[in-house]
Amino acid sequence: MTKPIAFDLSLSNWEEWTLQESIPKYRAKQIFQWIFQKNITAPSSFSNLPEAIRKKLAESFCWEPLIIDSKLISEDESQKLLLKTSDNLLIELVIMPYENRTTLCLSSQVGCKMGCTFCQTGKMGLKRNLSSGEILAQLLIANQILENKKVTNVVFMGMGEPLDNYDAVVKACSIMISSDGFNLSKAKVTVSTSGLVPEIRKLGTDLPVRLAISLHNADNEKRSKLMPVNRKYSLDELKEALLEYPASSRYGITFEYVMIDGKNDSLQDAKKLVHFLHGIKAKVNLIPVNPFPGMPITASTEQRIREFQMYLTKRSIPAPVRYSKGQDISGACGQLAAKRKEEVHMDPRKLHRKRRLNII
Ligand code: SAH
Ligand code: SF4
Repeated sequence: MTKPIAFDLSLSNWEEWTLQESIPKYRAKQIFQWIFQKNITAPSSFSNLPEAIRKKLAESFCWEPLIIDSKLISEDESQKLLLKTSDNLLIELVIMPYENRTTLCLSSQVGCKMGCTFCQTGKMGLKRNLSSGEILAQLLIANQILENKKVTNVVFMGMGEPLDNYDAVVKACSIMISSDGFNLSKAKVTVSTSGLVPEIRKLGTDLPVRLAISLHNADNEKRSKLMPVNRKYSLDELKEALLEYPASSRYGITFEYVMIDGKNDSLQDAKKLVHFLHGIKAKVNLIPVNPFPGMPITASTEQRIREFQMYLTKRSIPAPVRYSKGQDISGACGQLAAKRKEEVHMDPRKLHRKRRLNII
């Protein structure tokens, strides 16, 4: 029988466990703090616990639900990790250092069922949801790699649609912001979604963390072609939910807009976008699409991007151009995992040559 993942347990779950094992209740908080506050994941190091409890913990739970399969370091110093689950599936994690913060881009699912046409994770389909413990394990691994520094910001922009794995994502977020856990502020945890309207509304009531919306088009017909989710929840419904989202007026909402040549980058598209954003405190990240083999689309030209950007900024909408961090190491969502899958079938000598440059 597989053991339960230790990081799946919330503080109240640990309290239940102590009760069941006839261990004093205050031990639950100590265990929780070792894991999520001190980022120590070997029970043998839980020095304020008696030996018998440490042994029990080691025997009863899985403490390594994800292992590092490979690690790539980009020229811009971002690190991309491929992590392997206990059932041999690959997920991606990106650590992005900036001058005054370190942002972690983590995964919420293996694959994704939303089927956006420009996205390699979407092409995979959904393999399975990650548990809250597997989501938190990514943060623990990153903090352990960073040693003296710590992750300061979390964005759910790796593999998967976080709001399609609602319960696990909300449980993980609540441990991220708990003062006995990672103690991040709500403003530093961002859930990115393709626009699942009922779950956006639910998140607003349950745990209003920051929201990012992958918009990519402000015309219903065109957006439905790029993102099938739009057929279910139209732009009008999405906008209404965003206007009612509790944190939207305080933090604002970030919109991701991949720039695809001839698909969504005309001034007419920009005009529709401005109309959609009217009344929302918005920032738009313009991201030249990162093509992958077999994808029949290319990124917009630099001139097009600048014109589009100018149209927005002249109307007081901040619109920085963001090149996916770690472009040289398959920056965008799902691209590294897909590449790794191809490599598994490659001649090992060729593989070695390819990896020599940047894998450690
Ligand atoms: N499913 C969620 C979160 C993960 S996707 C969402 O869609 O918001 C993270 C971001 O990567 C999204 O904004 C997505 O649109 C973007 N993305 C996907 N494929 C891309 C590509 N080929 N080039 C650039 N960005 C891409
Ligand atoms: Fe899923 Fe996001 Fe990719 Fe769309 S962009 S397929 S929602 S991961």
